[in-house]
Amino acid sequence: MIIYDLKCTDGHRFEAVVASMFDDLPPCSDCGASTRKIPAAVGLSGSASAGPSREQMPNTWSGINRGDRETVRGWHQAMTKREKLEEKYPELAGDRRPVLAHEGAFADAPLRAGDPLAATVAEATFRPAGTATTASKTTQQHRKEDKK
Ligand SMILES: [Zn+2]
Repeated sequence: MIIYDLKCTDGHRFEAVVASMFDDLPPCSDCGASTRKIPAAVGLSGSASAGPSREQMPNTWSGINRGDRETVRGWHQAMTKREKLEEKYPELAGDRRPVLAHEGAFADAPLRAGDPLAATVAEATFRPAGTATTASKTTQQHRKEDKK
């Protein structure tokens, strides 16, 4: 459920609860005229909202309402709109390299393919079993010697 500030074509302002952001807006509660959303946050420049950025796009199954058709369609529309906007204003596109890690230490600064850190982390994360570092081998040897 989302609460919107709405304004009708006659200028009446009111709040309405809408089930999802992709539902049609209800008509004016006073006169029945069609309504539009009053932007909740207007940029300092007064420019219109650029819509959700790529980072805000859902990328999980639950994020798209378990594949709900209307939700997927809505995001697809938002995405298409965003792509057109980015064609016009490339600076909006931001970093579009695939994100390799976005949890833990990378929660605030996602690790992206091509980052110098990426190779190091990939090596550390995906090192096959049995190729332990020299340090841990030495430790294991010491332990074996202790048991003797
Ligand atoms: Zn009205």
